[in-house]
Amino acid sequence: MFLSDKPEEACGVFAVYAPGRKVANLTFDGLYALQHRGQESAGMAVSDHNSVTVYKNMGLVSNVFDERTLASLPGDLAIGHTRYSTTGASNWRNAQPVYRSVGPYGFAIAHNGNLTNTSELAEQIGMLPGMVSSDSDLMAELIAMRFPKEKGDTRELRPGEALVSATLSVLPELQGAYSLVLMDAEVVVAVRDPHGFRPLCIGELDGGGHVFASETPALDVVGAQFIREIEPGEMVVADDHGVRSYHPFDPKTLEPKLCIFEFVYFARPDSRLLDQEVHGTRRRMGMYLAQTMPVEADMVMGVPDSGVPAAEGYALASKIPYGQGLVKNRYIGRTFISPDPASRVSAVRRKLNPLSENISGKRLVVVDDSIVRGTTTRSMVKMLRSAGAAEVHLRISSPPYKWPCFYGINTPSRKDLLAARYDMEEMREFLEADSLAFLSLDDLRKAISVDGGFCDACLTGNYPTKTSQQP
Ligand code: SF4
Repeated sequence: MFLSDKPEEACGVFAVYAPGRKVANLTFDGLYALQHRGQESAGMAVSDHNSVTVYKNMGLVSNVFDERTLASLPGDLAIGHTRYSTTGASNWRNAQPVYRSVGPYGFAIAHNGNLTNTSELAEQIGMLPGMVSSDSDLMAELIAMRFPKEKGDTRELRPGEALVSATLSVLPELQGAYSLVLMDAEVVVAVRDPHGFRPLCIGELDGGGHVFASETPALDVVGAQFIREIEPGEMVVADDHGVRSYHPFDPKTLEPKLCIFEFVYFARPDSRLLDQEVHGTRRRMGMYLAQTMPVEADMVMGVPDSGVPAAEGYALASKIPYGQGLVKNRYIGRTFISPDPASRVSAVRRKLNPLSENISGKRLVVVDDSIVRGTTTRSMVKMLRSAGAAEVHLRISSPPYKWPCFYGINTPSRKDLLAARYDMEEMREFLEADSLAFLSLDDLRKAISVDGGFCDACLTGNYPTKTSQQP
């Protein structure tokens, strides 16, 4: 991850059902492994089968939880969330899990993605636009409304059944992107939308129990064995009867469209998606880029951290030596804290410093994974030149990012997307690079080397679902 001149990750979700085991610390570890998917707030809901307790706050996972708070969260089932806001303000109220006090125990929900029919759904249930604080809040409201109405009714259902049946009845009405985890005092539920825009997988714990997570490193860190990905359009329930699967959607609506940017940038390099380790796919992106967009140069370098695997691939295929040209300060906050353009430029300098001896007098191939606004890339090019680079050739390991995302990734509107405003030569001029080239969509797909459907709407403008928002 480099700077906020990138599409911003949306959220990470985690859930665990581990009979007889205290799971708050395990959930903390899982969320810590998903920190890259959201840094604004973190939270978890935990149940000891008598009540559901939610603890959440603004900040990083390690700021929100400490030994004392984790010790105060007893229970053997939990869900957790790391958030970056795509709809709704960044405040405590919108931190997740979202809780609703309905039925005998209440329930909690955590969401990665973005609904595309939030206003229509809100209107259907008579909520005014200002009353909906986020699409996740709206989902919680819809599910709460489908719980059995009469007081006491839910106690006649098997524990967890009210949550399962209410969720099953709401799911077909939701449009857009959602990987969800839900829980009440007795069950954990995991759902992936019919397109499977955002990832979600299931693993098994040694000694019994199951774990659900946005990415596989969250399974690894808690010692769970990966079983499989949750299928697009599948809902899985874990309780004391084991694990069972539901398919609540019309089969005609199932159309896998995993976000292609999970491979390019969002997912951790050590994640496995569609049976591929992400790091390997990024190296191949760099190799194809070297084959199709060669340039004479003395050194290949990656923009830390996310440009590095593709730079390694570029160096390998081009036989140009690989070297390090920039050092990243790992302890500094993210650029979005200072959103005006002037602050963003100075933030580049705070985050990256050139290795002058490595780059002085050299013709550089500088590999990055994507360009969104272009402001930080331009600052970086200037910085490399002032540190003595003779030439700067930018190579981007994905196609030009031209369209906003409506599926859970925070991107600016088209007027702020560099590739939507300018043609290739104008972009090169703006970035003040000696040359500029992007990976083609065909080569990106070849690098991922998986047949199957991907969402590539931000690259092509082909949105897989109807959306009321204007691109
Ligand atoms: S529009 Fe782009 S970022 Fe959004 S889900 Fe599709 S591929 Fe991913």
